[in-house]
Amino acid sequence: MVERVVVAGAGHAAGQTVASLKQKNFDGEIVLVGDEPWLPYQRPPLSKKYLAGELPAERLLFKPERFYDEPNFDLRLSTRVTSIDRSRRRIATEAGHVDYDRLILATGSRVRRLMIDGADLEGVHYLRNIADVDRIRTDLASARKIVIIGAGYIGLEVAAVARQLGLEVHVVEMAGRVMSRVVSPPVSAFFEREHAGRGVKLSLSTGIAGFTGRDGRVAGVKTSRDEVIAADLIVVGIGIQPNTELAAEAGLEIDNGIVVDDRCRTGDPRIYAVGDCSAHPSRIYGGRIRLESVHNAVEQAKTAAAGVCGEDVVYDQVPWFWSDQYDIKLQIAGLSDGYDRFVIRGDKRSRSFSCLYLAEGRLLAVDAVNAPRDFMQSKSLIAAGATPDPDRLADPDTALSDLG
Ligand SMILES: Cc1cc2nc3c(=O)[nH]c(=O)nc-3n(C[C@H](O)[C@H](O)[C@H](O)COP(=O)(O)OP(=O)(O)OC[C@H]3O[C@@H](n4cnc5c(N)ncnc54)[C@H](O)[C@@H]3O)c2cc1C
Repeated sequence: MVERVVVAGAGHAAGQTVASLKQKNFDGEIVLVGDEPWLPYQRPPLSKKYLAGELPAERLLFKPERFYDEPNFDLRLSTRVTSIDRSRRRIATEAGHVDYDRLILATGSRVRRLMIDGADLEGVHYLRNIADVDRIRTDLASARKIVIIGAGYIGLEVAAVARQLGLEVHVVEMAGRVMSRVVSPPVSAFFEREHAGRGVKLSLSTGIAGFTGRDGRVAGVKTSRDEVIAADLIVVGIGIQPNTELAAEAGLEIDNGIVVDDRCRTGDPRIYAVGDCSAHPSRIYGGRIRLESVHNAVEQAKTAAAGVCGEDVVYDQVPWFWSDQYDIKLQIAGLSDGYDRFVIRGDKRSRSFSCLYLAEGRLLAVDAVNAPRDFMQSKSLIAAGATPDPDRLADPDTALSDLG
């Protein structure tokens, strides 16, 4: 019988793990150990409505405080798990040891940092948690010019919010187009036009040589093109890396994430790993993948919680993700890596269209721009391994649901 589950990390995946255990009437003890001071909360609004000041912090919480008010819940916030002793089945924190029957690693990821001149100046920000955004908002209140390093989702979402707040916005990106890791050239071009049309300056194919400062505070960005762009604050969004050290030190296998099977189990049958920190096998795409998305965190957490309760649930779903920029909702289903052609469905000028990616005829992924129906219907086609006719895919008068 499982008497005590310890969850390491108190983010999105941890919050869902606890919620799923409660829903399944798990009657053992649940110990949640997280190094942030907050109850589990949702990160997506951090670079969207919370940054814009349109959402209070309480609304970020995954569940209200009373949800955790259960006799078998033990919440340890502002507490870091420092090691795992697998032979004794216990974790260590700064405050002592906790024994476990099952351990769920939900340690998430952390931002990649720039190691360049001026990186420690005040006003250079990263964006991962509530405290980061509170600091950014304080600076935004008195700033005129913001420079954003990195034109991925987070960089572009911050650009959209800052522009709507009336700041001068300059985005500097090393790659030749925005969101180049995840979308095709026409979708990048669409977003570049949308941002440029609202007055955002974009410097593509441009690296960063350092930050300049005045009295300890950032004043500008030196680019690889030898320009200096003036800035009152900087937000760096250049990607994340999974928090795998705890697992690695305990001898668990790591391969771009904590290696788990399709039931979210690590090589140790008593330890699961869920969310951003884990790498799982994918039947749909082959090989092992690590995802950075809410959907993945939630579904893996449900799978692990089911496993703890003795159910045999397999996690193998089409990944999906979204990004909000201005009035544009980008919804991505599937992974487009390895595509050999793409098809545009709809008219980009209408600001509602989709880009569908195929490999050897099979539908791999879709980027749906203000096109929720295409997103939903493509997701089903991807899951079914459909090989739709590209001409019919491109025809908005043909329902995608008819192409399965
Ligand atoms: C600004 C932003 C916007 C995003 N927007 C979207 C979006 O629009 N759509 C989408 O699908 N996804 C989005 N994401 C990604 C999504 O939020 C993550 O994929 C999700 O939070 C992953 O959940 P997680 O529980 O695995 O990790 P996290 O939410 O990162 O939680 C992990 C927690 O574990 C803690 N921790 C780490 N190590 C330890 C330790 N040793 N001891 C104790 N605690 C520890 C961390 O501090 C953290 O609190 C966004 C992320 C960010 C940062």
